[in-house]
Amino acid sequence: MKRAADWVREEIRALTAYHVAPAAGLVKLDAMENPYPLPPDVAEELGRHLATVAVNRYPDPGAPALKSALREAMGIPAGRGILLGNGSDEILQVIAVALARPGATMLALEPSFAMYRMSAATAGMGYAGVSLSPDFAIDLPATLEAIGRLRPALTWIAYPNNPTGNLFRREDVLAILEAAPGLVVVDEAYYAFSSGATFLGEVGRHPNLVLVRTVSKLGLAGLRLGLAVGPEDWLAEFDKVRLPYNVNVLSAAAATFLLGRRGLLEAQTAAIVKDRACLEAGIDAIAGVRRFPSAANFVLVRVPDGPAAFEALKARGILVRNFHGSHPLLAHCLRLTVGTPDENARLLEALTRAAG
Ligand SMILES: *Cc1c(COP(=O)(O)O)cnc(C)c1O
Repeated sequence: MKRAADWVREEIRALTAYHVAPAAGLVKLDAMENPYPLPPDVAEELGRHLATVAVNRYPDPGAPALKSALREAMGIPAGRGILLGNGSDEILQVIAVALARPGATMLALEPSFAMYRMSAATAGMGYAGVSLSPDFAIDLPATLEAIGRLRPALTWIAYPNNPTGNLFRREDVLAILEAAPGLVVVDEAYYAFSSGATFLGEVGRHPNLVLVRTVSKLGLAGLRLGLAVGPEDWLAEFDKVRLPYNVNVLSAAAATFLLGRRGLLEAQTAAIVKDRACLEAGIDAIAGVRRFPSAANFVLVRVPDGPAAFEALKARGILVRNFHGSHPLLAHCLRLTVGTPDENARLLEALTRAAG
């Protein structure tokens, strides 16, 4: 007695904490960050702006200025409710906690974002994964069968998917929305790179659709800001689970300021999409490397020996993400974040040697 092992829930003890690889001195292409820092003049102006924020006061939980900046930047219609999170990771957790009735199941497609399964465990919710097809499309018959059998309270769909990078067929996602008895959350963390592919226009047309987005992949990962957009009845319940001051005043002020100058972030996003095409062309010229289609700011590849290639890249100063061993469909797969043109060139050179 008196020890953590005697009292902490089994499903928590069975987890491994979210792993963040040390990256000091490495070209960091493992976490889908935007590689561009703020231009010095914008950074300075931001600093002056943040100096005016009243840090002695609690945040306004309604965050009206931030919400309208997000509406403007992401084209969210005025009639649609918004719930803010400390990153979209927090929103996953809020939703799971709200829906974790005894016996409730979360369904996710696999391979997908590891935090879905993790949020089920922390919320004390059951979890079931349905495998994608080998080309990472939704296996609709298997998914509908699982929905019918398990009656999931919550189904997660990442669109585009992480770590595979592809967009699912729209009609497959709509079929899941129709068939699911519970909530379906479409997680659009990579919407900015997907040439406009989105389910935002479907919000409000389905009583069980909530959309989740984040500013992390736009270049603001350090601010920790995500949002859910969906029907008021769902958001009102989630709002009770959300901690009252979950988005701090500095993050809210910085995001409002930077979204107000969103031409800058949009130009960076457009450059990343262009550079993705260059990176893809470079990968295609390397014998022995298979590349999967991407609508995100990363590219999934399969190499002859994933763990060895991961180590060889690291020895050349480049950190990527190795997915070998995480799911059978990801055997010998590495996920490469699109970096600056210079970083991508270094990556291609190292990958050519590593795959040879
Ligand atoms: C990166 C990522 C997130 C997490 O975003 P944060 O807002 O930084 O917490 C959510 N979903 C998917 C699919 C992601 O890849």
